[in-house]
Amino acid sequence: MKKLLLFASFLITPILFSQETYIHCGKLIDTRNGKVLTNKTIVVSGKSIKSIDDGFLNTTDSTIKVIDLKSKTVMPGWIDMHVHLESETSPTAYLEEFTLNEADVAYNAEVLAKITLMAGFTTVRDLGGSGVNVSLRNAIRSGKIVGPRVFTAEKSLASTGGHADPTSGYRKDLMGNPGPKEGVVNSVEDAKQAVRQRYKNGADWIKITATGGVLSMAKSGSNPQFTEEEIAAIVSTAKDYNMKVAAHAHGDEGMQRAVRAGVKTIEHGTEMSEVTMDLMIKNNAYLVPTITAGKTVAENALKADYYPAIIVPKALAIGPKIQATFGKAYKRGVPIAFGTDAGVFEHGLNAKEFIYMVEAGMPIMKAIQSATITNAFLLDMDKQIGSIEPGFLADIIATELDPTQDVNTVLKVIFVMKEGVIYKGN
Ligand SMILES: [Zn+2]
Repeated sequence: MKKLLLFASFLITPILFSQETYIHCGKLIDTRNGKVLTNKTIVVSGKSIKSIDDGFLNTTDSTIKVIDLKSKTVMPGWIDMHVHLESETSPTAYLEEFTLNEADVAYNAEVLAKITLMAGFTTVRDLGGSGVNVSLRNAIRSGKIVGPRVFTAEKSLASTGGHADPTSGYRKDLMGNPGPKEGVVNSVEDAKQAVRQRYKNGADWIKITATGGVLSMAKSGSNPQFTEEEIAAIVSTAKDYNMKVAAHAHGDEGMQRAVRAGVKTIEHGTEMSEVTMDLMIKNNAYLVPTITAGKTVAENALKADYYPAIIVPKALAIGPKIQATFGKAYKRGVPIAFGTDAGVFEHGLNAKEFIYMVEAGMPIMKAIQSATITNAFLLDMDKQIGSIEPGFLADIIATELDPTQDVNTVLKVIFVMKEGVIYKGN
């Protein structure tokens, strides 16, 4: 009982007292202007940032908490636009679809959400699971459990036998006949119904699998799987509910259909042609690179029996291409939104993506901006997160070193604050 009370007071404190915290920052990344500032104090009041002052502000007021990050580099919490908090890669992942109950998935998701937050990701977009992700978002939002702020697509939309058909690869008598309610679409009418069902189920975004994918139990990893009319119906119906659409796509034809039909983000983009790149620039569509996932599936495919046999050739063909395509797209001017596909690799290693983006030719400051101000904009939260400015939510992290000097430090997040509450460090 005492434990419960303590827990409850921990949750309520920041709201009741609007406690002030001074964060002494040796270095502070200004994501708005792409600059590293030195010797600043961030004043946090309750959930929000009150001011950013020059030098290290001191106080005799014992109610004010002072956090010393004078030897660290401070920046806004990162935003990952592509995670799957309901699951994590393992050789038993396919069997688990038949053995885990929804409650098991939920308990796992709670752990994975916490790991993600501790890695410096204060906001994520969950691009598809069973629907537990909606409950997870709500539980985090209400302070019952610890995790990043979640925007969720609930269940991804697919066509029959498509990448996100939840019964692909099952024995025939277990397949059933999933339809729009379960996220399987085979006409314009189905498409509208499936989007409305996602809205009803509590989704914030719509995710479609515009082409085949690596980890589904099907032969093609890149064929188009929706007609352009179906995608257009999904995009326009989503718009009625103020939702945007993300499209998983490896093959160019399905990708191009999705971009022409008005999706906002292309996930992976593996075989993206220059024509599609130019179309994305013209339509202001964003590439979410997921290089970490590409590299991981290629590595795992070499381990005996890690994936079912039908997955292996796809993982070997598609995985290694993602980083090079990202490099080309970035250099051509395609807008980039940081996202990793965590879950396809171990949660908590999301920041590896920064290292791979830099390897492919994107300067680290631009990569950090894509993970902060760009993603905040895509989530319609650009007045609240993604930058350390007065009036913004106090989502603040720190790395051991300055990532603009040593990019590997992104894997050493030593301080995490979300909405004014400290979860890691000090
Ligand atoms: Zn994914």
